[in-house]
Amino acid sequence: MTQGKNAIITGSTSGIGLGIAEAMAAAGINVMLNGFGDAAEIEETRKKLAADHGVKVAYNGADMTKPEEIEALVAQTESDFGQVDVVVNNAGIQNVQPVEEFPVAKWDAIIAINLTSSFHTIRLTLGGMKQRGWGRVINIASAHGLVASPFKSAYVAAKHGVLGLTKTVALEAAEHGVTVNAICPGYVLTPLVQMQIPDTAKARGISEEEVIQNVMLGNQPTKQFVTTEQLGGLAVFLCGDAAASITGAALPVDGGWTAQ
Ligand code: NAD
Repeated sequence: MTQGKNAIITGSTSGIGLGIAEAMAAAGINVMLNGFGDAAEIEETRKKLAADHGVKVAYNGADMTKPEEIEALVAQTESDFGQVDVVVNNAGIQNVQPVEEFPVAKWDAIIAINLTSSFHTIRLTLGGMKQRGWGRVINIASAHGLVASPFKSAYVAAKHGVLGLTKTVALEAAEHGVTVNAICPGYVLTPLVQMQIPDTAKARGISEEEVIQNVMLGNQPTKQFVTTEQLGGLAVFLCGDAAASITGAALPVDGGWTAQ
């Protein structure tokens, strides 16, 4: 059922997006990669995914802060693959600082990438999905879409916004065979998380080791980081028939964090 579908996965040159790209390619889904990084490494990833799984894999480097580049990303996917069946809104950035010191440019960038870019990919692809009577939108929100932590005002605001967008579009698409869901991961040890360890240590006045043990894993009753493979598995499940009645949901994959 997923075989031969076509997916755009934003921010898939690293971390969670790349894990979802691997899982989707393994499920027979053609993948449009997106994100920043070294051109040669991205081309290596693209070729390997295609060769390992016998699917089409393309790349478009759209900057998700730029609506015209997002339009070009969707247009390239339609021209390379024929149509867009699955959109995974995953691109995201973080900045950890107290709100009164939070740089305005960082606030704007986080809202643009972590929230507004999902509006653009959805507005550009939902019509085709509804017309064909099948589609999947998967928004990678966060446990921070459900609960807050200090010093992450823009990120928490954006991720709560993603859940509002998810529910609204789910209602608009519900009668057309299109499901719209959010996955809310806890901490996953990706470059995004690694980069915020020093800033969190500074903002809280604790050591980097204490950030990992007490702040990050301290939030997660399992005391384990969530893995990109686990998130890829859920994203593929959401594309299948068994998930056809799951829509408008915010699905925590957070080791019990938000159960507390
Ligand atoms: P990451 O830094 O490993 O990957 C982020 C990806 O987004 C990269 O491919 C990067 O190139 C891309 N990206 C960044 N800015 C972009 C832009 N302007 N245009 C296009 N692409 C851009 O981070 P990650 O941890 O894999 O995060 C992926 C998503 O998962 C984010 O939305 C993040 O908020 C969410 N998330 C992460 C965690 C975690 O613990 N790592 C937890 C919950 C949610």
